[in-house]
Amino acid sequence: MKLIKKNAIWKAFLQSLIIWIMFSILIIATNKIIFITTKNRILDSIQIKIEDVSYLIDKEITKNFNILRLLAHNLTSENLASPGEMAKTYDEIVEKNNFKMMGITLPDGTAYLHTGEVIDLSDREYFQESMNGSSSISTVLKSKIGLRNENVYSVPIIDQGQIIGVLWASVLTEVFYEDLKLDSLSGYGEVFLIDEEGALITQKDTLHINSNFFDLVEDYYNESKANKPHSDQMQSDIEKDKEGYRQFIVNGEEVYIYYSKLNYDDWWILTKVSEQKIKEMNRDISIVVFGISTFLFFLASIGVILFYFSIKKSHTELKKVAYLDPITNGKNDIFLKNNLKKILNKKDKFAFISLEAANIKSLVSILGYSNSQYLLKGLYDFIEGRLNEGECIVHSYFGEYKLIVKYHTVNELKKRLEEFMDYRKQISVEFKGGIFLIEDLNIGFEEMCAYVNMAKENLTKNNTYGFYNKEVRKNAINRVKLEEDIKNGILNDEFKAWFQPKCGPDGKTIVGAEALVRWYKYDSVIAPYIFIPVCEASGLMEKIDTLLLEDVCRKLRIWMNHQKKVVPISVNLSRSYLNSTDCVDRLQKIISKYSIPNYLIEFEITESSLSENEDKLKEIIDKFHENGFQVLLDDFGMGYSSISAISRMNFDVMKIDKSFIDGIGTQAGEDILKYTIQLARSFEMDIVAEGVETTEQYEFLCQHDFDQLQGYYYSKPLSAKDFSKFMEDHLDNQIR
Ligand code: C2E
Ligand code: CA
Ligand code: CA
Repeated sequence: MKLIKKNAIWKAFLQSLIIWIMFSILIIATNKIIFITTKNRILDSIQIKIEDVSYLIDKEITKNFNILRLLAHNLTSENLASPGEMAKTYDEIVEKNNFKMMGITLPDGTAYLHTGEVIDLSDREYFQESMNGSSSISTVLKSKIGLRNENVYSVPIIDQGQIIGVLWASVLTEVFYEDLKLDSLSGYGEVFLIDEEGALITQKDTLHINSNFFDLVEDYYNESKANKPHSDQMQSDIEKDKEGYRQFIVNGEEVYIYYSKLNYDDWWILTKVSEQKIKEMNRDISIVVFGISTFLFFLASIGVILFYFSIKKSHTELKKVAYLDPITNGKNDIFLKNNLKKILNKKDKFAFISLEAANIKSLVSILGYSNSQYLLKGLYDFIEGRLNEGECIVHSYFGEYKLIVKYHTVNELKKRLEEFMDYRKQISVEFKGGIFLIEDLNIGFEEMCAYVNMAKENLTKNNTYGFYNKEVRKNAINRVKLEEDIKNGILNDEFKAWFQPKCGPDGKTIVGAEALVRWYKYDSVIAPYIFIPVCEASGLMEKIDTLLLEDVCRKLRIWMNHQKKVVPISVNLSRSYLNSTDCVDRLQKIISKYSIPNYLIEFEITESSLSENEDKLKEIIDKFHENGFQVLLDDFGMGYSSISAISRMNFDVMKIDKSFIDGIGTQAGEDILKYTIQLARSFEMDIVAEGVETTEQYEFLCQHDFDQLQGYYYSKPLSAKDFSKFMEDHLDNQIR
């Protein structure tokens, strides 16, 4: 039942939330991983593209150099005698190969263009390189004719081992860029072609003439100090022929520059890709991933919500089962315990009540189990039907109900309780009620239960219900102490038999005695009414009965051993002793242990024991008779047993209760007594009159036929020693 903790639902909710958060993290992480993989994928694809581009560049350059080399090869000193004429013949080649210009530059730097113009190109670096025997491609140059930038291919003209001039062809930088198929990379972003030192060879927009790329990067990207180490790293990588990529911040945006070495010369190709670009390229995948993630997220959220509600529902169902009382189909103690705080409030005054069908055991034996269940359900419904809004009833265990009832005055509360107990008009339920007036809302359920139980335990015979108060508490504490003392008393053999003599109709002859228990404690002798209720409540009564019989037998044995006179002694048996069928054997064993003849022991059974279980009691009485014991019906007139039940039991003797004897002197009392005597006679029972105190009573009884008399008139209960003396004095007919 601990399952139904209040915070269980909270726990489920937190679990759901954790699952939901984990799911969210998973989805975010997946997105991040996809971004990184895409970035690497783009890097890979750039790498592949660069390999292609590198091949194409190589092919284009080789093709152009081959053209120039072939032409240069055919040039001789004679041809160069009229270089202008020679240059003009290249007109067709210029057109065919998309060159801007072609020309022959003589060693002094005078250049003869295919257009017929003559200019000085002695300062051009490529010219100087080619004069030194190398084929060369210039960086971006500002054209000396026209405004547009150009790149120039140049090869030396060698005749008979001598460099006699330079043959060159210029290409518009943007055409050069196109021819080199660098465009195929521009889909990623800007593309730069540089040499090892960083000199810019070409670039789509030709703004940076004669620039060094590394300087450019530093100027251009220097807005963030963070860029400096990256640009240094890139430069050192390129010096070491190490390809790779670095990350820069440009205008607050992250860009990646990939650098790869080309096959041609010491050229490097650089591709600048912005993060935005990666995201763009990633967009399709992102959309799909985002779509799937959102869908999964949505599913997870729904799952979590459903999970939460299903747990909540199963908790509610579990609660219903846990709170159900199977006998009344109503609620049980667990419900009240878990909902007590909700039911109580500061606005109203509440009472916590325990109402018990005290005679439920006997009702079960009369009605049977299933009819008793029906009765308990009926009582539940009966009370429930009389409750007001905000009040509550539960069935705690077989026959005990707990109620929370609102009240204004104690008298009103008492009236309500009487109203609930009106159920006994339908069937004879004996109620026992304990009431606790709740003043402090912080008192817990268990504590309240203890209080109402104390109030019930404190009830006297005349009360059906009582309130918990300081005195009840004090009594309860004393009872607990008393119980401890009784237990010790049993161990220390402090319980002894006293004997109250019974006389014959002559009022003189001793014919028997009743053994009555006394507790020798703190140098005083304590009477049974102090401790018997506690013994009964704590199950110690059986032990007391056994001890007493043993003491009686011991005393009888001693007297008999001392040749003293003895009479039959009647011993009281408590209800609880009569619960087990083997009780006769156990009693017999004790009696036999002291070799006491069975006719010297009689047993008194109170009338109220009859309601417990008639059949079993009949069996026990029959067994007593088989063993030769007399059985006395004690306290006749005090219980509610039916006459037929009494007759069925075959008691040998009826002890007429003191309350009947007290009726002597009144007409009604005397009539009842006369009728009772007749009744006993009709059942062929002997009659013992109990509690006879006065001569008037004795005389009345003498006129109306009785067998024995027990009471202060003849003798009070006596200690064993006094009784022994009493016997010496009174017994004429000795029995040994
Ligand atoms: P009981 O069996 O009805 O015993 C008779 C009670 O009436 C005794 O009280 C006795 O002292 C008292 N009594 C006798 N004659 C008179 C009289 O003329 N006037 C007045 N006012 N009282 C008289 P006691 O000894 O206090 O016992 C009380 C009850 O305790 C007994 O009632 C019996 O039910 C129970 N009891 C006593 N001893 C034992 C025992 O050993 N076992 C069991 N199970 N119950 C016992
Ligand atoms: Ca008795
Ligand atoms: Ca009695």
